[in-house]
Amino acid sequence: MGWPIAGRRQERLRSGYLLYTILCARPIATAAKSAMITEHSRTAFITGANKGIGKETARQLAQQGFAVFIGARDMTKGREAAEELCNQGFEATFIHLDITDPVSIKNAVGTFSQKADHLDVLINNAAVLEDHGEDITKLNTEMLDRTLKSNVTGPILVTQYFLPYLLKSQSGARVINVSSGAGALHDMNTYAPAYSISKTALNAVTRQFAAALHKQNIAVNCVDPGWVRTDMGGSSASRPVEKGAETIVWLAAEASPTETGKFWHDKREVEW
Ligand code: NAP
Repeated sequence: MGWPIAGRRQERLRSGYLLYTILCARPIATAAKSAMITEHSRTAFITGANKGIGKETARQLAQQGFAVFIGARDMTKGREAAEELCNQGFEATFIHLDITDPVSIKNAVGTFSQKADHLDVLINNAAVLEDHGEDITKLNTEMLDRTLKSNVTGPILVTQYFLPYLLKSQSGARVINVSSGAGALHDMNTYAPAYSISKTALNAVTRQFAAALHKQNIAVNCVDPGWVRTDMGGSSASRPVEKGAETIVWLAAEASPTETGKFWHDKREVEW
């Protein structure tokens, strides 16, 4: 039984899907025997995990013993993010995913199914913010459509497509939608109208899925990560990514599975 050095392997799987996986250090014999299942029994899929809060969430979950799946539309950055985790001794797999493209989502689920037979945690993190500084009175509705497609329709489709695998989670699956304080109606102002409207809608999506999946033992929650230093949040933001990912990771791994249909910030339920 030998230990391979960490490296990158491109596999053409029997289904025809292309799986870019990173070989983490593990015995070759074990890898060969169980090529289609993850080494760690708990699995988490994170969209937009090539950078920012998504990438940090993947790192913290890997640290807690999850096999993490890095969903990213950018092949190079997605592979690099998975490779970085593997080089730290964690189990990570890059899966190509554009949340605005149903075919890409379907293919991502197909690729996932070659590696794992269940999904414990789905984190809908990927999103766009295109209208910082814009005003609803002059809002470009094409941009609004694009924003809703990414931030609302995307998470709905990703959850629908992964549902068969969430239902196979032994422990009861968790879906976490990364929302924003900008989507909270109780103190909504003029900030980024398309983005804010999309996050309010994502909160409604959270309530809908939570109610629909309650009896199937799947908890669905949304999180405001606060103002975080990422490409989206900018360099003046008050929080590091570690803090931005904290409540997401807590909901994924520690919070009571009976908590569902709620909006969270800093591990506390907050007003819609
Ligand atoms: P970020 O660094 O800009 O990361 C956004 C991620 O989403 C990137 O990986 C991006 O991929 C991905 N993405 C966007 N559209 C996609 C698509 N169609 N398919 C697949 N991936 C896509 O932003 P972040 O700050 O980490 O944001 C993460 C989440 O936190 C978002 O839901 C955001 O709304 C929320 N949030 C952030 C803050 C903040 O202050 N940063 C505050 C409140 C809420 P590319 O690299 O390819 O663009």
